[in-house]
Amino acid sequence: MDIRPMIDHRRVRLLNARQDGTGPVIYWMSRDQRFRHNWALLFACRKANELQRPIEVLFTLAPSFLGAPFRHYDFMFRGLREVEGRLRESGIPLTVLTGEPDKTISAYASGLNAGAVVTDFSPLRLVRSWKSSAAASLSCAFYEVDAHNIVPCWIASPRQEFAARTIRPKLNALLDTFLTAFPYPEVACQPDTLNQPVVNWDILADTVKADRSVRPVKHLNPGEKAAEERLRKFLDQTLHRYAKERNDPNSGCVSALSPYLHFGQVSAQHIALEVSTSPVPEENRAAFIEELFIRKELADNYCFYNSRYDSFDGLPDWSKSSLMAHAEDHRDFNYTVGQFERAETHDPLWNAAQISLVETGMIHGYMRMYWAKKILEWSANPGTAFDIALWLNDRYAIDGRDPNGYTGIAWSIGGVHDRPWFERPVYGKIRYMNDSGCARKFDVGRYIESAHKT
Ligand SMILES: Cc1cc2nc3c(=O)[nH]c(=O)nc-3n(C[C@H](O)[C@H](O)[C@H](O)COP(=O)(O)OP(=O)(O)OC[C@H]3O[C@@H](n4cnc5c(N)ncnc54)[C@H](O)[C@@H]3O)c2cc1C
Repeated sequence: MDIRPMIDHRRVRLLNARQDGTGPVIYWMSRDQRFRHNWALLFACRKANELQRPIEVLFTLAPSFLGAPFRHYDFMFRGLREVEGRLRESGIPLTVLTGEPDKTISAYASGLNAGAVVTDFSPLRLVRSWKSSAAASLSCAFYEVDAHNIVPCWIASPRQEFAARTIRPKLNALLDTFLTAFPYPEVACQPDTLNQPVVNWDILADTVKADRSVRPVKHLNPGEKAAEERLRKFLDQTLHRYAKERNDPNSGCVSALSPYLHFGQVSAQHIALEVSTSPVPEENRAAFIEELFIRKELADNYCFYNSRYDSFDGLPDWSKSSLMAHAEDHRDFNYTVGQFERAETHDPLWNAAQISLVETGMIHGYMRMYWAKKILEWSANPGTAFDIALWLNDRYAIDGRDPNGYTGIAWSIGGVHDRPWFERPVYGKIRYMNDSGCARKFDVGRYIESAHKT
């Protein structure tokens, strides 16, 4: 199949001023760790076919990645093992190189006299700094493909958006042109046999430097196959209740796809296509697309255009000044990071959310807001609260270190994408939440009980 017309050129950016060379094409896989429904891999295949060269996939393993503990490496390696198998079935080798990614990719590409290097897109600072350094040192063309968002982040908007209401019309106006079906990755010039040895994932897992006290999650199987099974289950069993019940943590009607989306083991565009043809009532499809498409792509927009996305300083002026005006207010409770981490607060509901985070790597989306807002209420000051919430989320949440997480914390604690509310102690003009609000929405006792069974 000729896939050329199906890759929208707006999805691709050239990151340096070099020409395509004549060697093999390298797909430097980073955020989008999957074989199917991956525009970056598809573009790399197209480039290889155009240049009549083979393609190979490279994964660079940094000495550490934003403090990720072993829980995250375990999920990622098991997913990558599956990707390697699927690539091999198509004759494409996958190589893992350890070291500083920008240096390893440049050395590897120059050793092969690469025809082109293609990578996927992430708005996170560290990944962008690796890419700018690689762009300067690579001697062949270096392309970036947004394979994560339905509408490429740089096309959706040229600036940081204020709120969902400002980005929604922009995204919706572009949805039809970008929400297209995926072709199957086809390669024309692979060698008949793969000489490359298979990656020893067990050795990599044994040698990676990561905090092993945060144990792997047992209840989730990583990988593309598991993601597809979860998506099918969600479409068949729960999407029809999503609009009315998604804010009830006991209902089990959310998709729980965020770990797979975070590691790129499933494509948001593929999910959106499946949801859009589901026979469930429209209100459920619309409510889900609002989260998967509008809120998720708004989060990428926030991180892409605000380099201080993971810091209190990055918050809007109105919320920073309001929070700081209340920084000295009396707090009924003032917990340390250790007390929060060990779920030692006075509030059984908050403790239940924290236990769920530590034990399962997940907190229900509604409870995540309550969890973060109470950290604001019970910390010494708003800057400390921001740092504690971020640290706990990134350490334990299996979908942590994600634009959605940085934005979710900035929303809960710092009013990002929200508006000023009535002024009150500690919160200033930040939207308030309390346990009686939760009790009006769901059976709090049941939630607490189930967290303790995890
Ligand atoms: C304090 C706080 C921390 C958060 N940390 C993370 C995080 O580390 N990683 C993460 O992926 N999400 C995070 N979120 C966003 C959201 O809570 C999760 O995406 C959601 O709980 C994931 O569960 P699900 O897949 O069952 O969601 P569903 O309700 O089934 O939604 C489907 C998908 O839509 C997207 N989505 C849903 N809600 C949001 C949202 N509010 N903002 C952006 N995208 C959304 C996610 O990709 C999600 O997987 C956080 C939110 C808050 C308030």
